[in-house]
Amino acid sequence: MDWLTVNVVTPDGLVYDHRATIVVAKTTDGEIGILPKHAPIIVPLAIDEVRVKRTDSETHVDWIAVNGGIMEVRDNVISIIADSAERERDIDVSRAERAKQRAERMIEKAKENANKDDLRRATVALHRAINRINVSKHT
Ligand code: ATP
Repeated sequence: MDWLTVNVVTPDGLVYDHRATIVVAKTTDGEIGILPKHAPIIVPLAIDEVRVKRTDSETHVDWIAVNGGIMEVRDNVISIIADSAERERDIDVSRAERAKQRAERMIEKAKENANKDDLRRATVALHRAINRINVSKHT
């Protein structure tokens, strides 16, 4: 078999289900490229983009903004399970821009108040927003 099945699942349901020739994702340890017949692995993902080269197009690449989660590879199936994930075409850029500005304001306030928990939360929210903005540019 020279293709992989790629599924992305969130609490909203199945957000992606296609056949691919290669998938590139960012784990918490760095970038990883998965080809067919890859050995079984389970890895934590960073808040970053996942790139999928589909079997039904020579040139087209799908981009998915993935909000952390885990990726399992087994028997030519890639399952990504995340709190949220959006394809490039489904991203509301103005919402992400507003989320980015909100997170930046929260970071400033958390620094002023030396509130580490708020700073951590706001930093993660900022990463989510920046990731969505970056992925939306690939449409
Ligand atoms: P916001 O502050 O705008 O709600 P968030 O990062 O807190 O952003 P999440 O909690 O990660 O949002 O996601 C909640 C739901 O909204 C998920 O279903 C996610 O896919 C969706 N979502 C969040 N931001 C966007 C966006 N910019 N475009 C499309 N869907 C989004």
